[in-house]
Amino acid sequence: MKQLIQRAEESHQLTKEEIILLLQDKEAASLLFQAADRVRKKYVGDEVYLRALIEFSSYCKNNCCYCGLRRDNRHALRYRLTPRQILNTARQAAQIGYKTVVLQSGEDTWFSPAIMAEIIREIKKLGLAITLSIGEKNREEYAAYRQAGADRYLLRIETTDKALYAKWDPGMSWQNRARCLRDLKELGYEVGSGSLVGLPGQTLESLADDLLFFKSLPVDMAGIGPFIPHPQTPLAQAAVEGHFELSLKVMAVMRLLLPDINIPATTAMESLHPQGRLLALQSGANVIMPNVTDELCQERYDLYPGKMHTGPNAEQYVRDLTRKLAAIGRTVRFSTGFHGEYLKNNPA
Ligand code: SAH
Ligand code: SF4
Repeated sequence: MKQLIQRAEESHQLTKEEIILLLQDKEAASLLFQAADRVRKKYVGDEVYLRALIEFSSYCKNNCCYCGLRRDNRHALRYRLTPRQILNTARQAAQIGYKTVVLQSGEDTWFSPAIMAEIIREIKKLGLAITLSIGEKNREEYAAYRQAGADRYLLRIETTDKALYAKWDPGMSWQNRARCLRDLKELGYEVGSGSLVGLPGQTLESLADDLLFFKSLPVDMAGIGPFIPHPQTPLAQAAVEGHFELSLKVMAVMRLLLPDINIPATTAMESLHPQGRLLALQSGANVIMPNVTDELCQERYDLYPGKMHTGPNAEQYVRDLTRKLAAIGRTVRFSTGFHGEYLKNNPA
């Protein structure tokens, strides 16, 4: 196992079978995390890029079985920020020092292509990079947002197991989701994807396929998050044991395979483990996306239970984070943090 990790650390190649071996192995986990940490340091440095997350609507027309925002969840508290409120939140983020905002929401049809493009244009005037995470759209809509100034797009594939996708994402199509990712790449977005780890019925084989899928695109970013059962969904009774550890391993293998991409320490990891994000940052991750949305909205944006909130003072949050990161030898960086930025500024 040690040799396998060593070889992957140098070659950034692994077969599907080798990935499965790494994910199965219990003893070698710490070696894997250390190797991912070294690769992270070499390719993206010690800086942790911060991106301001704005969760602007909890309405969703989809019905993903794992998600608290699914349309059939009658208990969900819905809210929708106005374009002005979104812009004001982005402005506040810029004042704190953020250089990137991530606009995320359920698939909310209130935001027509024209309204969304206008929001993007207004935010661009603040000099911010924009990441969208608003779900599946047709190519024309993606093109319009790119033209309006959007730089990046986050769309997790969730799982590459097509049967599992069909089961837990009823009414959606895996092929369409993959089409979205290809369109986004062709349109010149930096593309982020990722997976849920621990979905009922998911296998290590399919997680290995997820990683090879990210490498084949290739993605510019990818977030790996443990699946956390939400009480008001069909998957309320699903297990959660082991999801954190497995997510960490999947993430670490991803760092070995895609050495210079941006990998967030996901909020869901922190929800399952009090030190979740720090551990992720020491096992391959290099990005944190602090939530800058109003507290009440953060609460209502209830994807899964125990979702961590950043508290009422966004500046204080960054100060606290800076201190925590300094303790593990890392610094926060308010840069646009595009893919490859570190290597460009620090040629080997
Ligand atoms: N509607 C958009 C963006 C919001 S959902 C989209 O689906 O792309 C953002 C992410 O939340 C999803 O990609 C999914 O991976 C994650 N998520 C949803 N429910 C979750 C749960 N129960 N546990 C962990 N992550 C979850
Ligand atoms: Fe909607 Fe995204 Fe939740 Fe699916 S995961 S129900 S698309 S918010």
